[in-house]
Amino acid sequence: MARLGSWIEPHPQGIYVPAADAWIDPSQPVPRALVTHGHADHARDGHGAVLATPETLAIMETRYGPQSGQGVAYGETVVLGDVTARFVPAGHVLGSAQIVLERKGERIVVSGDYKRRADPTCAPFEPVPCDIFITEATFGLPVFRHPDTGAEVDRLLEALHANPTRCVLVGAYALGKAQRLIAELRLRGHHDPIYIHGAMERLCSLYQELGVDLGELVSATAASKEQLRGKIVMCPPGALNDRWSRRLPDPITAMASGWMRVRQRARQRNVELPLVVSDHADWDELTSTVQELAPQELWVTHGREDALVHWCITRQIRAKALALVGYEDEDD
Ligand SMILES: [Zn+2]
Ligand SMILES: [Zn+2]
Repeated sequence: MARLGSWIEPHPQGIYVPAADAWIDPSQPVPRALVTHGHADHARDGHGAVLATPETLAIMETRYGPQSGQGVAYGETVVLGDVTARFVPAGHVLGSAQIVLERKGERIVVSGDYKRRADPTCAPFEPVPCDIFITEATFGLPVFRHPDTGAEVDRLLEALHANPTRCVLVGAYALGKAQRLIAELRLRGHHDPIYIHGAMERLCSLYQELGVDLGELVSATAASKEQLRGKIVMCPPGALNDRWSRRLPDPITAMASGWMRVRQRARQRNVELPLVVSDHADWDELTSTVQELAPQELWVTHGREDALVHWCITRQIRAKALALVGYEDEDD
């Protein structure tokens, strides 16, 4: 009998499926790519053809311009040679998908990036039992345990309400994290206009066009200092400390990221109010997902793989690190 998973090839630049002549999240342009989600380290420009969910394709087109692609809705199956591919929700950002590959009775799930907790801006992760689960491990260390998201959002609102003459400037990645944070604020009853940096406008509009309610968003560029007092302003992390923020009224600098768990990272960015909000699975989510899916083998694409591989081996699950390159996960 052939070795499990002998029909897929991990390469440093992505996972190749020869029988389907397709790459998954390749870091270089290829003739045919299956793309899990719209973050730049997974969705590159320049492929011959892209197969992705309609939302991911729309995100890629917003960022890169027209793509020669085929939208594959959640649950829909495409046949590529003697392989079938199905996209199921990954709970990471709008449109994010795990790719379920099947060939001759063997099932391999490529998770892409994922998380298990609720996110009002995207469909929840759907567990698919499989023979091989190919996972990320961005936060694959037992020290990474993300706190309750609602409690982090409450801390943001408390800082805002305690400082009515200042504003809270929140750094958040422009795809996914920003929209999730806005939606979480709305769920907690914050209905004031939220001011956004120009670099976030197109993706926020796209989310709203695709049916995600973000409430009233206003361009921060056009707003006066007076208007911004007592308000939340959002910008990409890179804009937190640049000239752009100097015109804001005495901002309380916040940042929403799983990395805010690491004090040194918060200090590097002069973040006064670190908010630990992540779009990736933490250690408990990674290990409970492996237990739930009960694969025969676990392959780890990127991140901190050693602890997770060790955790599997002590539980008689075969595991290996693929050490794919180019997946930064600065996106968190
Ligand atoms: Zn991602
Ligand atoms: Zn990633």
